[in-house]
Amino acid sequence: MASTIAACSSGSMPCAIAIVRMSGPEAFAVLDGVFKPTSGKPVSQRQSRHMHYGRLLAKDGLTIDLCLAACFPAPNSYTGEDLVEVYCHGSQAVVAAMLDHCFALGAVPAPPGEFTKRAFLSGRLDLTEAEAVADLIHSQSELGAKAAVAQLEGSVGSRVKAIRENVLALLSHFYAVCDYTDEDLDPFEYEKAITVLEDSRSALDTLHEGFRRGRLVRDGVPVAIIGKPNAGKSSLFNALAGSQRAIVTDEAGTTRDVLEEVISVGGAPIRILDTAGLRESDSKAERMGVERARMAAMTAHAVICVLDLSGELTPEDREVLELIPLCEMPVLVLNKTDLCTALPSWAEEVTAMHSWKAVFQLSAQSGQVEELAQWLSGLAPKPQEVLITSARQAHLLQSASDALSSAIDSAREGMTADAFLMDAERAVNLLGQITGETADADLAHEIFGRFCVGK
Ligand code: GDP
Repeated sequence: MASTIAACSSGSMPCAIAIVRMSGPEAFAVLDGVFKPTSGKPVSQRQSRHMHYGRLLAKDGLTIDLCLAACFPAPNSYTGEDLVEVYCHGSQAVVAAMLDHCFALGAVPAPPGEFTKRAFLSGRLDLTEAEAVADLIHSQSELGAKAAVAQLEGSVGSRVKAIRENVLALLSHFYAVCDYTDEDLDPFEYEKAITVLEDSRSALDTLHEGFRRGRLVRDGVPVAIIGKPNAGKSSLFNALAGSQRAIVTDEAGTTRDVLEEVISVGGAPIRILDTAGLRESDSKAERMGVERARMAAMTAHAVICVLDLSGELTPEDREVLELIPLCEMPVLVLNKTDLCTALPSWAEEVTAMHSWKAVFQLSAQSGQVEELAQWLSGLAPKPQEVLITSARQAHLLQSASDALSSAIDSAREGMTADAFLMDAERAVNLLGQITGETADADLAHEIFGRFCVGK
């Protein structure tokens, strides 16, 4: 019989309210032992899915909190089992005493991800939906949360299931034709089978294409800020991030490393990389920072090149500008507008020199970055797209597509039915692993082990 698990599902304490959950066959009995509703009747005998007010008891029988509790009977609960939630005050002492009492009455501590694992094992969620729960919890922007919730609602799982069922229908037709020769079945035609396999492969490839964009949503679109020391990169970083994370001083070369911060710009996740000043240096630490800055500039999705309008265009600036042809999407920021009354002549020359995707004149110090932020938010994928965020799912999609390609080749070359069937079955199996229909226990263990306790 499954154990009854208990854990605190809410975040760090002290806080206003903490939520303790229990799931399993004894969840209601344990709740009745630790929680006494003011009305007298145990919560398990009262209306389910309703909040009930009462006293929470420590192991010694004394009251440790006045709070709310609710019961969610199987099978329509998050885990598919009897589930209980207690909403107490967010005190470490209250939660510890309550859990202690629950454990004394037979509950056991929940390992990481155990609630969601049980939801998967009872068929409440498929694996793509369970992975979406983890993505949703870790989402750093509105767009990331929307993508995770779409997956939680089945945007990936339902598509994969539909493709898998098409290939399965093809296989069962083949076997039926072989096994029931007397029946009046439609003949199995290789040409039709090839069409089904090609359509399925192309649907898989479309899903797989959403992986790169899905990663951008989950991890943030990488945007590097480059420029000579003192151009105002850290100030720009801080203005965009809305905090004082990078140290801003007027001494050249203060940002020695690449600072990264995912910021939510208009709901879109942007991973800003603030690089050390791009100039040759004798100091070893600074040289390493400069090298990383070059790398960041070459690998980032967009690169913001910051120039200081209050001075001349220096050889150091020209060195920075030499990197621009290597950048995928260069953006020019002419900074410190507050220090100049008219644009210096070099600003026009630089603006014309490269194919900038956008040019902004601003003062980072006075936090004038709205237009730039607006432009950056447009770099993120659109929320309507079906996005794949899991490397596991992407790998399986690719392997299933490859297996279908082999099946198509075998069918075309008129190979034996065995070769064609083996590859099509392999694809079905790989697709089943995405949703969990054919996943083994080790895989489930590995996926849920990455969750936090209480989820
Ligand atoms: P970094 O070395 O490129 O990261 O440059 P910082 O952001 O550290 O800025 C260097 C100096 O320029 C600091 O004293 C900033 O306060 C100043 N600074 C940055 N942006 C502006 C701006 O828009 N206007 C003015 N007046 N000063 C700025």
